[in-house]
Amino acid sequence: MGKMIIAGNWKMNKDLDEAVQLVEKLKKGFKNKNKVEVVICPSFTNLSSVNEIVKDSDIMLGAQNMYTEEKGAYTGEISASMLKSVGCKYVIVGHSERRQYFNETNSFLNKKVKVALENNLIPIYCVGETLEQRESGKVEKVIKEQIEDGLKGVSLEDLKKVVVAYEPVWAIGTGKTATPQQANDVHFFIRKLLKAMANEAVADYISILYGGSVTPESCRELMSKSDIDGALVGGASLKADSFAEIINY
Ligand code: PEP
Repeated sequence: MGKMIIAGNWKMNKDLDEAVQLVEKLKKGFKNKNKVEVVICPSFTNLSSVNEIVKDSDIMLGAQNMYTEEKGAYTGEISASMLKSVGCKYVIVGHSERRQYFNETNSFLNKKVKVALENNLIPIYCVGETLEQRESGKVEKVIKEQIEDGLKGVSLEDLKKVVVAYEPVWAIGTGKTATPQQANDVHFFIRKLLKAMANEAVADYISILYGGSVTPESCRELMSKSDIDGALVGGASLKADSFAEIINY
């Protein structure tokens, strides 16, 4: 059982004023400080301003993406050290929207995971199957490839720092949540893979978050499952009231 972490992925939402307002409200509304580490992941343009608000609080800052190179002629990209310099502790790597719309592969994501770790950023490495893959019985095959290829060559010491998010693609933004049992089964499988790649102590230490239409209503039961160590929340993290309910579950 890893540390409980609940992360809000704001995706491409909120302009600067909206981001500042939301985070001010969350800061006031977060009560569950001893139980949960809360992470918010605004868009790049809002990171610096949001950091000013959360830097002395119990809310951690994360980015939604990063590039693999340190600097240079990569117009439009953002490096790990740039994220560090604006206060990020976490970075989401391999969200299914990055895999789907930007063709990010497991081997490319493996590089991102390693570069994040080299720069003392904690990668929240996302995996998950599509509906078609689930219906054709390929869940374990897909997850195995994503975990083994995406985390290949990461040292045991670094692997301990990684956070994994299981996000079935069919449950993201669709209102369809995996049942707590369905989610826990995959989390259990992921932990088994991590045990085989590392060892039991490392696998038990890693937080495995569930993501996919998590709401204040579904959160408590999901979080009660043996292998679910938190949540990655999209839609419900965009409103202070609903995200506050989730983080104070
Ligand atoms: C996500 O984007 O990571 C996500 C889980 O979104 P939602 O909660 O809206 O399904």
